[in-house]
Amino acid sequence: MIRPNKSDNATIAENRLAGSMLIEERQNQQNEFRNEPMRDFSDKQQRDSFSKAINKSTINSVRFIDEVQAIKLIDAAESSFEFWRSIAVYQRAAKLLRAAEIIRQSRDYLSGIIIKESGKVWREADADVCEAIDFLQFYARCAVEMSLPEKLGSYPGELNEHWGEPRGITVVISPWNFPLAIATGMVAAALVTGNPVILKPAEQTSYIAKILVDFMHQAGVPRQVLLFAPGVGETVGAALVKDPRVATIAFTGSKEVGLDIIRTAYDTQSNQSIVKRVISEMGGKNAIIVDDSADLDQAVIGVRSSAFDFSGQKCSACSRCIVHKEIYDQFVNRLVASTKTLIVGDPMEPGTDVGPLIDEAAAGKVKHYVEVGKKEGKLAIGLNVPDGLEDRVGKPYVAPHIYTGINQNHKIANEEVFGPVLAIIKADSFEHALKIANATNYKLTGGVFSRKPSNLKLAKEKFRVGNLYINRSITGALVSRQPFGGFGLSGVGEKAGGAYYLRQFTVPRVCTENTMRRGFAPELKD
Ligand code: NAD
Repeated sequence: MIRPNKSDNATIAENRLAGSMLIEERQNQQNEFRNEPMRDFSDKQQRDSFSKAINKSTINSVRFIDEVQAIKLIDAAESSFEFWRSIAVYQRAAKLLRAAEIIRQSRDYLSGIIIKESGKVWREADADVCEAIDFLQFYARCAVEMSLPEKLGSYPGELNEHWGEPRGITVVISPWNFPLAIATGMVAAALVTGNPVILKPAEQTSYIAKILVDFMHQAGVPRQVLLFAPGVGETVGAALVKDPRVATIAFTGSKEVGLDIIRTAYDTQSNQSIVKRVISEMGGKNAIIVDDSADLDQAVIGVRSSAFDFSGQKCSACSRCIVHKEIYDQFVNRLVASTKTLIVGDPMEPGTDVGPLIDEAAAGKVKHYVEVGKKEGKLAIGLNVPDGLEDRVGKPYVAPHIYTGINQNHKIANEEVFGPVLAIIKADSFEHALKIANATNYKLTGGVFSRKPSNLKLAKEKFRVGNLYINRSITGALVSRQPFGGFGLSGVGEKAGGAYYLRQFTVPRVCTENTMRRGFAPELKD
């Protein structure tokens, strides 16, 4: 069992203050949660200072642990649970707020690490860091609000209250594509609700995850409460998932791994004291419908950025574009012309639109779909990768590709590519487009470009996705404004960045008290 030491006591005094400020904030509805503003790269000063900071950032290698070491981390987490669950929620929330501040102080430096480690372009790396700050600030507020017992109804002589308490050891398994934001979100949610956490980050982006853990420790989260488990998913990740002492697994990644984790976790062992819960955010095969009334200026830019930002390596990316036959040729011509203007380049350069893919394995998979697309449809455009770029950047590239003549039975209309490959499908009507859009078991994001109110109404009713976007791009969900997550085979669990997310890390409890006192006993003070 760990106890606060002297320096922690000083921290607790500060934390009490921060905690009461948080409660006051909620009560006064002042100082409401606001998303962290992104850098404005059209401003020379911001551009120059960002450039300076990212050039200074360096990546260090992270030593991977093995399964035996991973299990030792669970021992440590087990010993810290009692301490962590028993401190006041506002103290935990205050540590999140402090971590947000620490990240904010070095945000451009962190962007530099993300650019170098994952290949994100400037604005994508900046958005990743902003989202991490948002998760910390938002969940700190939600946790304080949620911690107050909720009174259920009003019955004479009876008090019914509902509250949640921490479930226990939480294993967080994160992906590489939002290497700071997604890890931060899952870690923050589990910690602030009183659970010790073991973070197993994606192999490709372990260094930014290590920095996150260091910053959380600096912010006052004890080392035995947040533990770091860099390592291979199939060994270290799998061992953590299997351990009977783990209560919750928060996973974001591919459908294959997510389903595997769900299977393993729900195979309850005789020495378990709680049925594990898996929060699993998985892939997508997201579609945008462009109908015959769409504003094509808006639609072309929206589809292009949804399909090719971060080289299509977002779970929310558009990989199917379903276009009404009346405007099909016009839209495709304009989309192709617009895609031609994208700059495929070095992510360290401010003007780069499309950077590299994460690694050779990902590039191999995307190249496979480039070939599949050629067989199944007609290549409308395939941009080239400039000579020498891969060597200079040290990562593989596949430039944007668009295929026309695709139908819903084709592979590239069904399988998650996770790269800059867009399939265009022709629809006879808006209803037909909706039918095609829904013909996948993934239900993550979707979009509609239309100016017809009746079509928009129909889309809200019938387009079965977790996050529907109308007349805008389908990526870039913001914490609190657009709580994010899918259903179907895209995920199980509450939406990340939403008010209900934290409940998943708690066990619900209800207490019913008979308040009709039989005899008054003032002498029983304690
Ligand atoms: P991935 O599934 O390959 O890896 C995710 C994590 O799981 C990594 O940390 C990995 O090491 C670990 N892992 C791998 N095998 C494991 C095992 N057997 N047991 C335990 N852990 C294991 O995914 P990725 O390539 O990192 O990320 C891309 C995928 O993530 C895409 O499918 C994308 O759609 C999805 N994604 C979904 C969301 C969402 O919110 N729904 C967000 C981002 C990414």
